[in-house]
Amino acid sequence: MEQMDGLDVVGCERCDDLCDSRSRIVNGVGPADADLLFVGEAPGANEDEQGEPFVGRSGDVLDDGLREAGLDRGDVRITNCVRCRPPDNRDPRKGELTNCRDYLETEIDRVNPEVVVTLGKVPAEHLLERDVAVTGEAGEVFDITVAGQPRRVLVSVHPAATLYDPSQKETFEAALATAAEFTDAQSGQSRLGEF
Ligand code: URA
Repeated sequence: MEQMDGLDVVGCERCDDLCDSRSRIVNGVGPADADLLFVGEAPGANEDEQGEPFVGRSGDVLDDGLREAGLDRGDVRITNCVRCRPPDNRDPRKGELTNCRDYLETEIDRVNPEVVVTLGKVPAEHLLERDVAVTGEAGEVFDITVAGQPRRVLVSVHPAATLYDPSQKETFEAALATAAEFTDAQSGQSRLGEF
């Protein structure tokens, strides 16, 4: 694909609004062969400034949650449905999600994770292609097809949800604990054999 270099998107100009609002394209970070691929919505101000997903307050919550689950940020891959910051932090539009979709599909295909963990409603609905009640479905694993390949998707609430509603912390941590079961990094006991 002409606008991807490995797992990175380079010089994309598909979305007029986002080209105007971004400082840079925020590509995924983490090992190119990670067992866990976390997918958020879109970069915010901090991510746009630093060029890395989940580096603001949501990132702190994600990092803490990963640590709690026995994981390290450096062991997982983290990306977003849309790679450019929407103006005023609005939700990405349908057309923007569509424009960025093949980049995400390519990243999923190339990383080939054991499970894709969706952080919040936007990525859950984007990948599952249906309405998702995130709080109710958090921690559940769904089998889908992405770019012709079978994939597992684990739904999680967005880390920022725990800041607005502390009761979501337990739900978030439980989802990350489930994610950790798909790696053997944590305890040597993998859940992979079950699937
Ligand atoms: N929220 C997201 O969904 N993605 C980020 O990268 C940061 C905050």
